[in-house]
Amino acid sequence: MVDTIELREQMIHAAKELKYYRLISLCGGNVSVRLDDGNYLITPSGMEYDNMKPEDICKVNPEGTVIEGKWRASSDTAAIIYIFENMPEVNAVIHTHQPYATAISLVEDEFPPCCVTQVDALRGKVSVAPFTISGDKGMGPLTCEYMEGSFAVILKNHGVMAVGVDLRKCLYAAVYLEEAAKTYCIARAMSNPVVPMTAAETKAEAKDISRWMNYHQG
Ligand SMILES: [Zn+2]
Repeated sequence: MVDTIELREQMIHAAKELKYYRLISLCGGNVSVRLDDGNYLITPSGMEYDNMKPEDICKVNPEGTVIEGKWRASSDTAAIIYIFENMPEVNAVIHTHQPYATAISLVEDEFPPCCVTQVDALRGKVSVAPFTISGDKGMGPLTCEYMEGSFAVILKNHGVMAVGVDLRKCLYAAVYLEEAAKTYCIARAMSNPVVPMTAAETKAEAKDISRWMNYHQG
């Protein structure tokens, strides 16, 4: 991606969408993209998104140093750069503290495929990565290790790392993960165990390429 005002506005819009869909509160989470010049754009640390301007977004180099912008980049910058550097197909990363997906991490090691939109946007199951403290670079390697073909990882006791070939699809992965996680949590409250999708149902849902074009990363 090329660093333009439009791209920075898309990042702010994505962050506001995260708030709209209740995936973050106040200044939580972050949004970042890979630039064609080898650097990255990442939202600043501790800033609420409603009043964020394109120039508030930090440009960082692969070492994590802010090379453009007056604010400190997200405290998760080292982990996010690790993800970009080790997943060359990924051009956008969104980190959230979305409550339903995070709730699953308190009781499960894996979120099974439960809803068709989850399969369409994330391919199926989403794994839970072991605990790390917030801001720790270790979130990066764990995200890569536990992605397992999905487009998101749930960080135990923390939140979610979603990835995408572009920002829009990354946002879809995070939002549809939360929708499916909410459905799962409601189902678990009504009955335990619940009945997730079978392997055959997941495979059948994932097979329809035309539907993937709407949600999936292609
Ligand atoms: Zn976090």
